[in-house]
Amino acid sequence: MASIPDPKRQFKEFQQSFFKALVSATAASNAIPVNDVGYLRSLDRQFAKDLDTCGSRLLKTSNQLLQHCSADTGVEASTYEDVDDVNERYGGVVDVVDGLLEKADVCLDEMLGRTGKGNDQIKQQAAEVAQVSKGKLEYKLLHASNIVRPQMKFKDAVDNSNSTPFIRKIKHKPHAQVPLEYGVTPDMVEGIEGGKLTHSLPHPYEYEIQHIKYPDFMFQAKERIMYEPFDTTTAAWVDDDASLEKMMDELAKAHEIAIDLEHHNYRSYQGFTCLMQISTREHDFIVDTLQLRDRLWQLNEYFADPNVVKVLHGADSDIIWLQRDFGLYIVNLFDTYFASQLLEFPQKSLAYLLRTYCNVEADKKYQLADWRIRPLPEEMLKYARADTHYLLYIYDCVRNELIERSAANDNLLRAALQRSAGVAAQKHEKEVYDLETGEGPNGWKGLLRKWQHPMTTQQMAVFKALHQWRDVTAREQDESVRFVLPNHMLFSLVERMPSDSAGVMGCCNPCPPLVRMNAQSIGILIQKTRMDAVLPSSAQSSAATQQQPIKTETLTEKKPATSITSIPIKKIKVAKMEVDPSAFDLSKVDHLRREHAEMVGKAVSSLFGEAMDDAIDDALNESTRALVDEIRSNLRLTLPFEGLKFKQKVKEEPLSSPSAATAQAEQSSSNQQQPAELLYVAPEKRETKKRKAVEASSSTTTTTQQEHAVQEEQDAIVLKDTMRKTKKKKGSKKKKSKTPPQE
Ligand code: AMP
Ligand code: MN
Ligand code: ZN
Repeated sequence: MASIPDPKRQFKEFQQSFFKALVSATAASNAIPVNDVGYLRSLDRQFAKDLDTCGSRLLKTSNQLLQHCSADTGVEASTYEDVDDVNERYGGVVDVVDGLLEKADVCLDEMLGRTGKGNDQIKQQAAEVAQVSKGKLEYKLLHASNIVRPQMKFKDAVDNSNSTPFIRKIKHKPHAQVPLEYGVTPDMVEGIEGGKLTHSLPHPYEYEIQHIKYPDFMFQAKERIMYEPFDTTTAAWVDDDASLEKMMDELAKAHEIAIDLEHHNYRSYQGFTCLMQISTREHDFIVDTLQLRDRLWQLNEYFADPNVVKVLHGADSDIIWLQRDFGLYIVNLFDTYFASQLLEFPQKSLAYLLRTYCNVEADKKYQLADWRIRPLPEEMLKYARADTHYLLYIYDCVRNELIERSAANDNLLRAALQRSAGVAAQKHEKEVYDLETGEGPNGWKGLLRKWQHPMTTQQMAVFKALHQWRDVTAREQDESVRFVLPNHMLFSLVERMPSDSAGVMGCCNPCPPLVRMNAQSIGILIQKTRMDAVLPSSAQSSAATQQQPIKTETLTEKKPATSITSIPIKKIKVAKMEVDPSAFDLSKVDHLRREHAEMVGKAVSSLFGEAMDDAIDDALNESTRALVDEIRSNLRLTLPFEGLKFKQKVKEEPLSSPSAATAQAEQSSSNQQQPAELLYVAPEKRETKKRKAVEASSSTTTTTQQEHAVQEEQDAIVLKDTMRKTKKKKGSKKKKSKTPPQE
């Protein structure tokens, strides 16, 4: 045999020789007529011997592969004993390898700055934004790739847990009328009781906001002060202690300051502030809040000072972001939005005020830009600066008008300040996810209202399960729920209820990375949820299940088996018992995932050992390595280990109806791969990624039809007598839901 090139030094050559060997092996085995093997064996003893040798080598290789897979997933897998055993259980290995390749693909995309299939969707969003605004926002500014996640560098660890309250960041309280501990009761300090979220600590400046004595100068009409020309001045970029110090020196001289924030919430669960713009009468400052996140608490010296007016426009979110990210609070807020409201302007936007008072046409196209980008492009800096540059002048204008239009018994300026104070006194709370009630801004109840079509019991259960999976995943990965799984894709999954990874990915086009990485788990989750939804014994909480209590009950009773339902239900139940429930234990999955991430972090390859390690170190430059490290620490691998887990045999049971047979077929095919996967497939017929994608996008007929068929069979189990109705509805639904509601 010719020597095999060293993969470490001559990877290309190694790859070539590998492919060559693979092609000739395939051609050779292809030349053997499958149906005649038995005959040929009896004809030629040497051939029979070779066949056996080859067979046992293949078995050995299969077992090695199985051991690699089980080592990678942390699941113990018993060895293959014979060909039948391989046939039956090889699917698990295929799934693990598929999953790993899929993940490697995602990692490479991320590393190379390709968002892959995600691009289409983002481009679409970009197009929409561009349409709204006059100018065209460059795509790369709307959604930058190759950004090292800023939250990795935050000194305060991101806490997305659902069970702990927000812990306020303030340690020092300048301009205090009451101490920091004011209003804090012992039960609040204990924080969590019985695992339930209790109240977070009170707003530390609530008292000061309520008891504020506004400085007299605020109520005297005076000549408005013109802003500095925009084009001949620049903003100071504040990103270190020295520049922060300099800015604070300027703030110390000011009686009025204008403030605005820019925020990012697509690649983060709770979101974070990326930029703080501050303008005094003389200067504009742009603070890099990603750099100075843990230093900005010092600004309470000015922000909480009742003798300094803080002018913002539409401050609701800013108030929350300031306290959540920096522990900053505003005492003496003047929100120009309320001035617009009290003066009954036709529009309440900042753009309107800019047009009216400054003759400036605001271009809001950067509002949705990716503010994590560094260094910030000139045009974005300009945009950000414009948000506060004119604001103190606008304040002068609306303040004078409010004073002018006030009556003796109707002080409009006081009213604006009062409404502003209400906003400043708002307290940040973490979002709580309640699976039971579905309440909350990101609860399933709100989303359910967007779904205009009837849902079956199973679909309702799947909807809730997927919705919860999305929230849990977003919290764990610190991503937004719309990054994890956009609403219209969630609905698409609910509609088709696929049970395998191909089906899951077929519902999501373009498929989001976290769906790709968890496609198999999602399939299993859907399948499990569907089973649970039709199980009489499980205490299902969904209202939809409760609509069928009588029918479900009768299934367990010894009623004469006039219904076709009793047997398949029993069957499903038997099958369910054999499923290891820990396969769905998210914390266990997470644990395995972390373990694996560590292994990947060490760059030990099953194939190359540690050979690749120094190759990587040598080849990568500083920034690429930082990116690699970031991806490694950040991208956790979920392994589809479930496939290896259960060697499940559904017991033979007499079946009395075709629907029962289908139920069983689906049941058994779900945990074991069909042997079809092992058959040799001609190159032109092989499923490649491209073909897969084309198939998925052009038509998912096979899966969809199968899924619908299975759905109907399952429906028959529970909803036997309403089946005709269901079918009708489904027919009409299918048409409408071609365009499920978008985000
Ligand atoms: P602004 O107050 O206009 O400077 O906006 C502050 C931040 O709010 C922006 O950086 C965005 O993150 C967010 N934001 C503003 N307007 C929108 C919008 N229409 N949709 C989504 N996010 C927005
Ligand atoms: Mn704002
Ligand atoms: Zn802004």
